[in-house]
Amino acid sequence: MSQLADHLAQLTGHRDRDVLDTTLAAAIRDLLRPRRVAVHRCVGDEGAQRWLTRARLGAGDAAAEADPVWVELESLPRLEDFPTRMAALAQDGPVVTLGESVVTVFPLATDREVVGVVEIESVVAIDPEHLRLVGSILRIYRNFQGLLDYSERDTLTGLLNRKTFDEAFYKISAAAHRDAQLAADRRLEHQPQHHFIGVIDIDHFKAVNDSHGHLIGDEVLLLLSRLMRSSFRFHDRLYRFGGEEFVVLMRCGSAEDAGQAFERLRANVQAYKFPQVGTITVSVGYTEVLAGDSPSGAFERADKAVYWVKAHGRNRVCNLADLLASGEASDASKSGDVELF
Ligand code: GH3
Ligand code: MG
Ligand code: MG
Repeated sequence: MSQLADHLAQLTGHRDRDVLDTTLAAAIRDLLRPRRVAVHRCVGDEGAQRWLTRARLGAGDAAAEADPVWVELESLPRLEDFPTRMAALAQDGPVVTLGESVVTVFPLATDREVVGVVEIESVVAIDPEHLRLVGSILRIYRNFQGLLDYSERDTLTGLLNRKTFDEAFYKISAAAHRDAQLAADRRLEHQPQHHFIGVIDIDHFKAVNDSHGHLIGDEVLLLLSRLMRSSFRFHDRLYRFGGEEFVVLMRCGSAEDAGQAFERLRANVQAYKFPQVGTITVSVGYTEVLAGDSPSGAFERADKAVYWVKAHGRNRVCNLADLLASGEASDASKSGDVELF
């Protein structure tokens, strides 16, 4: 009992979603002692989703294994490659298959949707009391996720809110800083990571509200957030900063790749027929996250590019670095302490 209480305290003691699934797997492993337990999440676009392993723990493992956060979607197994997991996604309770070992799969749900599964591999079937125990832990997990979502997500669109931006940003700029130092010492063993921040602002959104009312305006915001989800990769972080302003933090090979991703969104928005409203467009500015950047400094650079697009016809994507290179914007960062790498 005290072990259970310890695990629940650990599970609900983390605000960092990255470690939540590992804690969940560890709790089930320690309480049930199965051969293996794993947490798999569904990622990617609806209809073409894949399994991302968030935590996998064997009986004697000291630490959990997981897929890298930045893994390429195409390298992950397809949903339909695992029929038992697929069956569990559609169930309220566990699905059990008997083979060389017993595999028990529970759906993993938040208040909004089923997000994945917990897969437990054991020598014998899990007894009803332990099945109930896992069910209860998953309900606690769900309630806790609900609380996290409430404080970290925008209620209209479900995108992340501004509050969580700084922390995610500092993780990224610290990685950029580390890479910059290693590269300077010629000790960098991988390609430096490039991250970009993009600011997306709806064009003439006030006119949408004025002509169609706030409710239709809200629906446009919701639909735009869906277009964002389908235009960017599953590991890109999508924010609604407030009003009709959205922000994306993405990892990309180059500024050209980032530009293509933003251009994909811009084209998808322009092509979409919004009910009653028809066509809307967005202006997008982006910039690379630099070593030593502050969240507000990087945001302001991307916003400066948006400002430029607004003054030059709207419905475009623009990298601030290109504006600086062509002399169409002046370099305010020279007065700051930002260091290029
Ligand atoms: P621009 O092309 O220059 O960006 O023009 P704009 O009209 O989009 O920009 P402006 O900043 O003048 O107006 C933003 C409008 O967004 C003002 C407000 O009516 C609307 N707005 C802000 N937040 C919300 C919201 O939560 N729901 C709805 N429906 N409208 C919002
Ligand atoms: Mg605006
Ligand atoms: Mg606007």
